[in-house]
Amino acid sequence: MSGISTAAIHADRDVDRGRALAPPIYQTAAFWAEDAEQFARAAVDRRGRGFYTRYGNPNHAQVAAVLAELEHTEAAMVTASGMAALTSAVLALVSSGDHVIGQRSTYGGTASVLLNLLPRLGVSTTVVDQADPAAFERALTPRTRLMLLESPSNPLLQITDLRAVADLARAHHVLTMADNTFATPVNQRPVDLGIDLVWHSATKYLNGHSDVSAGVLAGPAGLLDRVWDVAVLTGAVLGPLDAWLLLRGLRTLPLRMARHNANGQALAEALHEHPAVARVHYPGLPAHPQHALASRQMSGFGGVLGIELAGGFEAADAFLGRLRYARRSASLGGVESLAVHPASMWRGMLSAEQIAASGVAPGLVRLSAGTEDTADLVADALAAAGPAAGERTR
Ligand SMILES: *Cc1c(COP(=O)(O)O)cnc(C)c1O
Repeated sequence: MSGISTAAIHADRDVDRGRALAPPIYQTAAFWAEDAEQFARAAVDRRGRGFYTRYGNPNHAQVAAVLAELEHTEAAMVTASGMAALTSAVLALVSSGDHVIGQRSTYGGTASVLLNLLPRLGVSTTVVDQADPAAFERALTPRTRLMLLESPSNPLLQITDLRAVADLARAHHVLTMADNTFATPVNQRPVDLGIDLVWHSATKYLNGHSDVSAGVLAGPAGLLDRVWDVAVLTGAVLGPLDAWLLLRGLRTLPLRMARHNANGQALAEALHEHPAVARVHYPGLPAHPQHALASRQMSGFGGVLGIELAGGFEAADAFLGRLRYARRSASLGGVESLAVHPASMWRGMLSAEQIAASGVAPGLVRLSAGTEDTADLVADALAAAGPAAGERTR
C-alpha cells in the first residue's frame, strides 16, 4: 500500500477519469442506459455511479476511492454533510427498542441525536464519560446495538481509548462508529484500532477550505450498503460540484495537516504558560491528562485547541475580540484560523446548567489554528491573551 500523500493523489485515477488529467465534473442528475437490462442492473447497484445522482455519481465514487484508501477501509461513501452521514448510519443500524451508547463530550449535533432524535424514535441512549472505558461496559444492556465515539472530542479535546472500547464492543456484538473529524486519517485511523465505521464532517479538515458542506462514511462494504439503502431514502446526496471540490481539497490533506499539527502544538505550548490562561486543552501537551493514550493512538494532534481564560466569560470574549487572524466562526479545520466562544454561542440554545453539565467552562475558547505562519499565530495569540503578555518578566 502506498503512503498517504500518494494515495490522496492517485487512489481515484481509474475511476471515470477517461483521458482527462483532472477529474471531470459530472454535473448531471441522472444517467441513461442502452437497454432495459442495463437500466435494471444500474438501479440496484449500491453506491453505484450510473443511474441517478441521488443513488451515486462518478464524483462521489472518486472521493470514496481516495477516502477508503486513506482510512484503510474496504469502502467509503459521501453525504451532503457530516450530520447526514451520522443520521443515515444511525437510522440504518438501529431500530425501535434498541439501545445506543454515546459520549458526554461530543459534537452538539451528535449530542442532539442521542438526547432528542433517538429517544423520540423509541431508541434508548446512555451517555458516558469517554475517558473511562469501564463506563462503556457498565452502560451495556442486552439491547445495545451501537456505540457512537468521538476522539478527540469537540470542544474539550478529550480522548477515547478506541482500541479498548472497540474490543469491548466486539466481544458483545455491538457496532462502533467513530467521528474522526478532528484527527483525520493523517493523525489517526480508527479502523486500524478495531472500530467498525468511521465518519467525518468533511466540511472541516478533509475539504479544508471552508467552502463545502459534506460528510463521509468509511468501513466494510456490507455495512455501507445498509447505510446507503437509508441515505437514498433520506436524500442525503452530495452535489457533484461539491464532491469535486472535496476531492480537490483531499489532494493536499497530508500537507495541510502537517502545518495544522505544528501550529496547534506551538499555540498550545505558548498559551499553556501564559498567566492569563487557566488551562489549555490539547492532547499534544504532556499536561493533558490523556497525553500518553493520545500519543499511542495518534501520530499528530491537529490544529484545534481549547483555551480556558482565567478571567472567565468576559475575558474569553475579549480574547476573541483581540485576535487579529482568527475570526469568530462556528466552523473549524480550514486554512484560515477560526475561533469560537462556546458559552456565548450556546446562550440562545442551552441553559447555564446545561452548559455547565457539558463540562464547558464560561472562559473556554475553541481555537482552530489554520495553516498561516506559526510565528504569526503565536505572536497574535500571546498579544490577545492580554497585557500580562507584555508585562511578563521572564
Ligand atoms: C462539524 C462537525 C460535525 C457535523 O458536521 P456537518 O458537516 O456540519 O454536518 C460532526 N462532528 C464534528 C466533530 C464536527 O466538528
